[in-house]
Amino acid sequence: MIYTAIKTLEKRWPLFNREPLTKAHCLKLLEEMGVIALEDRQVPEAMALWYQKKAFVIYNPHLSDSDLVLNIGHELGHFALGHIKSTRLPILSRIFSKTIEEKDAGIIGFLMWAPTAELCRMYDKGRLNIEELYRYVKFRDGDIEEDKALRLCHSRIRIFNGLQRTLRQLRMPVQFRVPPYFGI
Ligand SMILES: [Zn+2]
Repeated sequence: MIYTAIKTLEKRWPLFNREPLTKAHCLKLLEEMGVIALEDRQVPEAMALWYQKKAFVIYNPHLSDSDLVLNIGHELGHFALGHIKSTRLPILSRIFSKTIEEKDAGIIGFLMWAPTAELCRMYDKGRLNIEELYRYVKFRDGDIEEDKALRLCHSRIRIFNGLQRTLRQLRMPVQFRVPPYFGI
């Protein structure tokens, strides 16, 4: 379940879902998971696969900072959620895909890109909205295209609201104020 996976990742990697992560963080996390990261300009964004009993994430090094984190994070999400089995064919990352596995892996990438802790800070100031998140995203990645940034902001707020709903359904306190090490 995505919620449990997020909690596990938060415990395993204290920065996860607390601080915005960089490409360097993503590569370090892959290494810690025993996944080999390779660059390949032929890959549209990123893909994950097993080859000769080894796990790989292959990514295009020419992506923007945001796309690198979202796409490598997406593939990392597949491994963290146990989606990538040794028998599976390579799968390309699709960060806006609607299938359950893709969406769940995507959520991991989105939390790495714009952590819940950051959205909680906006919420606490009464400023959790598209404009504020857009400003934050542009501040972090000046090269990101406007349309893409807006679409990502919409997705990220939807994910935030969805996770808060899940917390309510689980009858757990909705944590708008983020205690140390916990984000959702
Ligand atoms: Zn995927």
